[in-house]
Amino acid sequence: MSADEEPTVSPVVEHCGSECDEALDRLFAFLDSELVPSDAEQVRAHLADCRPCLEEFDVEAVVKKVVRRSCQEAAPAELRVRIHEQLMVLRVHTD
Ligand SMILES: [Zn+2]
Repeated sequence: MSADEEPTVSPVVEHCGSECDEALDRLFAFLDSELVPSDAEQVRAHLADCRPCLEEFDVEAVVKKVVRRSCQEAAPAELRVRIHEQLMVLRVHTD
């Protein structure tokens, strides 16, 4: 037992900073193909560097958010597949 090991039980997954929130927020636009290439590249670069972001990322949550943003009632299967593929690509690149 070391004094450094404090029994901190946090209900929140440890986040690497506000940069993460920003990146995740922009990721929705990124997946929605709304970002200009330079912005998209920034999001991609962050996710490539930041494994917590990527692992925390939930396809269903993204699909819901994108659907809400675009005022559609339901996510087209195509959108779901596209998001899933994008995330798979990002995950593969971080390995
Ligand atoms: Zn991050």
